[in-house]
Amino acid sequence: MIITLQKELTHLTMESINIEKEIRDLESFPDEKYLEIIRKVGFECDRCGKCCTSEFNDHIFLLDDDAQRIIEYHGREFLRPAPYFDFCDNLGRFYVMGYALKTKPNGDCIFYTGSSCEHYEDRPRICKIFPYMLHREPDEDGNIDFRQIGGLDEHGLYHNEICEGALKEILKTVKEYESGFLKQQLEFIKYVGKYFKDNNLRINQQMYDRMMRLYQKGTAIEVFVFYRGKFEKEVIIPVQIS
Ligand code: SF4
Repeated sequence: MIITLQKELTHLTMESINIEKEIRDLESFPDEKYLEIIRKVGFECDRCGKCCTSEFNDHIFLLDDDAQRIIEYHGREFLRPAPYFDFCDNLGRFYVMGYALKTKPNGDCIFYTGSSCEHYEDRPRICKIFPYMLHREPDEDGNIDFRQIGGLDEHGLYHNEICEGALKEILKTVKEYESGFLKQQLEFIKYVGKYFKDNNLRINQQMYDRMMRLYQKGTAIEVFVFYRGKFEKEVIIPVQIS
């Protein structure tokens, strides 16, 4: 189904309004509540490397500054468009809000050596905040709030005591990451609206499904990745999981 331009723009505007609200909610969320979540989880990385494997993690999303650092220090070949593309246009081209770290043929992170991270001290921010990632979600009583979403008790060490200094550092990093993610998403949505309008394109879900089926059978597809305020065109073929 091809959505009409007006409907499309209204949909994107609604999405922008929701993200703006989420940013405001995040910024006004009391630090003490965040600290409580971090204290309760009490995670300590024992460098088991499980979260770097395809078993636990299917992609490492990179905020623009993470992607920029990867390009500068390692090269563009370490990036790929983040999976789960957001839109497809009527010409069969996909759009996504950023890059992810490349994976090995077996789906593990490209920096995972088989026992640890090759660049642990300089790992992307999403790896640094694991498993404290937050999402605005309803609790069991339907109250919308920020909730911790990282997999618990599956690897690493939990329920440790964390000193005040470390707690504050984690809090700062989590807030920076979550707000950076939402701001990148907001910029992307706004840019999509303008780009589609200027280029007379339409969002097309049928085309999305059709191109995805072709992609899964091995056809190369074009993906426009939102990076530093504009789109970069990438051509990708499916990674064969061994
Ligand atoms: S960058 Fe390092 S810490 Fe992050 S998933 Fe890859 S190997 Fe693991």
